[in-house]
Amino acid sequence: MATYDMTMNLTEENKQTIKDALETKGAVAPCARCSTPTMSILDSLVALTSIKPNESGDDQEYGPILPAAALICTNCGHLVLHSAGILGLTQQLGIR
Ligand SMILES: [Zn+2]
Repeated sequence: MATYDMTMNLTEENKQTIKDALETKGAVAPCARCSTPTMSILDSLVALTSIKPNESGDDQEYGPILPAAALICTNCGHLVLHSAGILGLTQQLGIR
């Protein structure tokens, strides 16, 4: 298993690690929007965060970052996110 280099895209080995984790969890269903069987793993992990107004209401604050693996339907472009932490990828890919 290869550590994820944040300056580069996911390697094919990294993508295989993600694919294996999804298969282990049984997350292998076709696209939920168009039923196309092929979902591709995006070339990099993505980071989700929350946004809320700050106390004075004149700016906004961001919450903690949730790293995620993203899949895209090769037909309709539907995007699906999987928490890297839940899949055990943060440790396997060396991200925090
Ligand atoms: Zn689709």
